Amino acid sequence: MGIDPNFETNREDVGEEHEVTVWGPTDPPEELGIRGTHVAVDFDICLADGACLEDCPVDVFDWVDTPGHPESERKANPTDEEQCIDCMLCVDVCPVDAIDVDPGRENRV
Ligand code: SF4
Repeated sequence: MGIDPNFETNREDVGEEHEVTVWGPTDPPEELGIRGTHVAVDFDICLADGACLEDCPVDVFDWVDTPGHPESERKANPTDEEQCIDCMLCVDVCPVDAIDVDPGRENRV
């Protein structure tokens, strides 16, 4: 199952890390939640494939280390989500549907 596209209503904002909002629940290192709002990455699904980092035309994503997470020990963080041009390439290339992009979400939360 991929990222919940309605996470902003189904989850709570539990703070900020690596320059983006964290949507809980979290219980590190095993449970890390969803990261970002306009460009959202479910860290608990991300397996560090890296296609989003390679394909994003405006370099929204950075690697962050997540030692001890069961899926992967690094994650694609949407650090520069405000640069996103909504091309949806990252959504299309992610092999596990860990990414959801919605430019309207910022105004709803
Ligand atoms: S939608 Fe396009 S511009 Fe936005 S983060 Fe994904 S690949 Fe980058």
